[in-house]
Amino acid sequence: MIFDLHSHSNFSDGALSPQDLVVRAEERGVSVLAITDHDTIAGVEFAQKAGVIHGVTVIPGIEFSSQWGKAGVHIVGLGIDRSSPVLLNAIHAQEHSRRERSEAIGERLARAGFSGALHGARILAAGGSLGRPHFAQYLVNIGAVKNINAAFKKYLGTGKLADVKYQWPLMEQVVTWIHAAGGIAVLAHPAKYELTRMKLCALVDAFAMVGGDAVEVISGIQTGAITQDLAKIVNSRSLYASCGSDFHTPGQGWQELGSFGYLPENTKPVWDLLRL
Ligand code: MN
Ligand code: MN
Ligand code: MN
Repeated sequence: MIFDLHSHSNFSDGALSPQDLVVRAEERGVSVLAITDHDTIAGVEFAQKAGVIHGVTVIPGIEFSSQWGKAGVHIVGLGIDRSSPVLLNAIHAQEHSRRERSEAIGERLARAGFSGALHGARILAAGGSLGRPHFAQYLVNIGAVKNINAAFKKYLGTGKLADVKYQWPLMEQVVTWIHAAGGIAVLAHPAKYELTRMKLCALVDAFAMVGGDAVEVISGIQTGAITQDLAKIVNSRSLYASCGSDFHTPGQGWQELGSFGYLPENTKPVWDLLRL
């Protein structure tokens, strides 16, 4: 059985509708798919309905942005109750944060001569969670840069002109929201924060301390060495292990639905905690 517990639809920065996401998951042999859009659950119901039709078990999920010290850290919530008032309030607050941040990014880009950036990014987000990838796509579309990578390198990445330092809610706050909604809190893609091993261990310790449940031991295609090392870190703290592609867009092979290998056998799979 293939479990893919991290994926995006066009309700945040993914390319596919929730329905098409589920169809692709089925084609790729995924039995259990979590839809985890950034700071929104708006696509969950569509994905669940498609899941019934296509024989894919869809786990209602979300990916929250949070703050750990100076680092922005992503926390995935799995198996959340979509009607939880705490969750709905939290999503509302995150929407506000995202709007503030995107306005700040828009201002910076306007000063650099891209006065249409905010408007353009909003159109691309089409009412979904607006994020930096939408600004990047806008810059590509108007021919300011060659591709998304170049947009981050030149304008949106760390230390660049439109890199707005934004204070997300604290990691412990986000874990509390997820638990209040009956969900499981998973530290997303720990290898992507570019931390030293010591800092990475400190992050996992801090996450466990605030009640975090699991860590993505696998995020998309990665080296076996990273997987083994993360498994070791997670096991020594009695945390559960999760895996997912972090799928956004077809054609990005390193984060394709269902293709990332299996959890190491000595780990405790997070799906033991999910009611399937
Ligand atoms: Mn994303
Ligand atoms: Mn993420
Ligand atoms: Mn993601």
